[in-house]
Amino acid sequence: MNTEQFYPLFLQAANVVIDSRKIEKNDIFFAFSGENFNAAVLAEQAVDKGALAVIVEQQEYENPEKKIFYVPSTLAFLQELARYHRKKLQIPIIGLTGSNGKTTTKEIIHAVLSEKFNVQYTRGNLNNHIGVPLTILSITSEHEMAVVEMGANHQKEIEFLCTISMPDFGYITNFGKAHLEGFGGVEGVIKGKSELYDYLKNNGKTILINDNDPVQIEKTKEYSRKITFGSRESDYQFELFSEQNFVGLIYKNQKAVSKLTGEYNFTNLCAAASLGLYFGIDFDKIIYAIEHYMPTNMRSQIVEKGNKTLVLDTYNANPSSMAASLKNFITFEGSKTVIIGDMLELGGESEREHLAILKLAMDLGFDEIITVGKIFRTVYHSSLSFEDTSSLTEYIKINPISSRNILLKGSRGIALEKVLEFI
Ligand code: ATP
Ligand code: MG
Repeated sequence: MNTEQFYPLFLQAANVVIDSRKIEKNDIFFAFSGENFNAAVLAEQAVDKGALAVIVEQQEYENPEKKIFYVPSTLAFLQELARYHRKKLQIPIIGLTGSNGKTTTKEIIHAVLSEKFNVQYTRGNLNNHIGVPLTILSITSEHEMAVVEMGANHQKEIEFLCTISMPDFGYITNFGKAHLEGFGGVEGVIKGKSELYDYLKNNGKTILINDNDPVQIEKTKEYSRKITFGSRESDYQFELFSEQNFVGLIYKNQKAVSKLTGEYNFTNLCAAASLGLYFGIDFDKIIYAIEHYMPTNMRSQIVEKGNKTLVLDTYNANPSSMAASLKNFITFEGSKTVIIGDMLELGGESEREHLAILKLAMDLGFDEIITVGKIFRTVYHSSLSFEDTSSLTEYIKINPISSRNILLKGSRGIALEKVLEFI
């Protein structure tokens, strides 16, 4: 079976799912081969649950009467189907990548553009070789636009994801120290992320850039289809504004203050506002969208607990986002404790980067520095250096943190948010 034959069935489907527990009536289920389950049983169960079709990669399970179809690779078929669907869609797609801030920027762009259009967007963090096709396949004839987050931890990944999402507009949030291991250093990150620019240039599409960022300028200098923000010569000019730990922007004397903390979110807001203005949305509506967007996803989120202000930034961490977070947090009024967790996936740079962050935290002069994780333990020789979140929770049950403000930031694998309920 090929994508063209299958496509009419896809158009009748409610959703495409890859998790057998989530199958509902009229869904299409892609049975990915795993070690722990029997695809044949899952396929039968999916049919019983009312699936419209099931895709398997075991020829012996094929059963067209029951709508169980064989393909050599479910993954390749999922990606191919997404490509086929994308080509049929006549709507603009905005593609995002970058080291930090993709999800946040995607959410704000979605909030802004939704003031005027019916916008589909990446749910959560589904930004890889499976998530991007799923996002594309979730776009229906009702949507007028889509915002697609694309993540990468090695070269050629963005190039590949662009062949599926085929963006008409693209933005790189920043080039930072993330996934250094897979990319081969910062230069590698710049090269890898710039594959989005290459796609846009080669296909005559439009690039959004922050023309305050020398790397973004350099990488796009030979290309004119650009929307710019950031400098005095830009298409859209914004001023930074912050109020009580929250960041916002001013455009032509009107201000919009978000519920996000951290100056690094300023460019994320600018990117969204620029696209909003570009697509003809009144600034009043953009203000509304920015002011009403509520982060609930452990990214730059402020949580008030009793008389304490907590910054919950535990979704992920790498040296650039960690440094940005620390520099933002030092501006908070009152005593401050930082709880920082290991930054994973840094390869050979790991120990040096942890030491640099520790030194930054010390230089900034926080009242108390607590670290969690094995890597920090090798560089921070202190009774406040904990191996994992459970040893930290045991400690704070007996020694509650007295500071007025507390920052929690670390890699996903450290799951610092587990500490929250004990503070
Ligand atoms: P992932 O690789 O996990 O998908 P992401 O790129 O989607 O990450 P977010 O989840 O939006 O990034 O944000 C993660 C953290 O990165 C934020 O909580 C914040 O600390 C930091 N961050 C956000 N935007 C920026 C930015 N423009 N520059 C630097 N750091 C940022
Ligand atoms: Mg993300």
